[in-house]
Amino acid sequence: MKDNVREFGSLDLDRHAFFFDFDGTLAEIAPRPQDVTLGEVMRQNITRLSLRTGGAVAIITGRNRAEITPHLDSEIPVAALHGVDFPGRADVAVADRINAIRPLLPPLARLVVRHPGAVLEDKGQGLALHWRAAPSAEGAMVEAAHETLATLGAGWQIQPGKCVAEIRPVGDDKGGALRRFMTIDPFLGRRPVAFGDDLNDLPMLAAARSAGGLAVALGERDLPADIRLSGPAELGDWLERRLEA
Ligand SMILES: [Mg+2]
Repeated sequence: MKDNVREFGSLDLDRHAFFFDFDGTLAEIAPRPQDVTLGEVMRQNITRLSLRTGGAVAIITGRNRAEITPHLDSEIPVAALHGVDFPGRADVAVADRINAIRPLLPPLARLVVRHPGAVLEDKGQGLALHWRAAPSAEGAMVEAAHETLATLGAGWQIQPGKCVAEIRPVGDDKGGALRRFMTIDPFLGRRPVAFGDDLNDLPMLAAARSAGGLAVALGERDLPADIRLSGPAELGDWLERRLEA
C-alpha cells in the first residue's frame, strides 16, 4: 500500500491513462442530479491533464452523454450509461431500449410527484429514481424500481447506488468501457488509473487493477482500492499538484 501511495504522488503522465467517474468523483453530489456542476478549476485541470498525457484521459459515467459533455471541453472522450454508450460504437439495440423505457416514464413521474424531493431521471436507454432530497421515499422508489424491472423482463438490471436505484441494460459496465478505451490510441500501452466513488465504479476500479494499474476510491464507500481520497476537492488538489510538478 505504501508503494502505491508513493507512486500515486508522482504518477508518470507519459505512462499512465486516467479514467474518471463524474458524479461524486470530479463533481460534488447535489440533492438532484440536474444540479450537479463541475468546478471551473476542475474542468480546466482535466483538460490540462488530457493535454499533458497526449489525450489519455476519459470520463466513464453512468449518466446520459448529453448531461455530461456540456461540463467538459470537447476533446475529452466520454463513455456514458456505464459504457452502454461508447464513443463511435454503433449499437443496434439503442432504439429498442429507448422504446422499452419510454412508456414507463409517465407513471413513474406521477409517483415521484407524490414524494417531494424525489427525482426521476430519464436516461434514454434507462432510467433512475433518486431520493437524496427525499429520504423517506426510499422504500417507494426501490419498490418502483423492482416493479419496473419486472415489467421490462430479461436484458435489464437494477444498479444500486447512493440514494438512487437505476434501471439499465445488462451486459455493459464501466470495467468494459475502461478495457475498451485501453485498446485504442492514445490509451493503448499505458497503465490505467481509475477514479470512482460508488458501487457502479467497482468494475472500473477492478479493471484498472487487473491491467496493472491503480484504483482510486473517493468518499465514504468502502470500495476496494489502492488509494483513498475524501472527495472531489482532494482529487482537485492532487491534480493541481501533479500538473504543477
Ligand atoms: Mg459517482
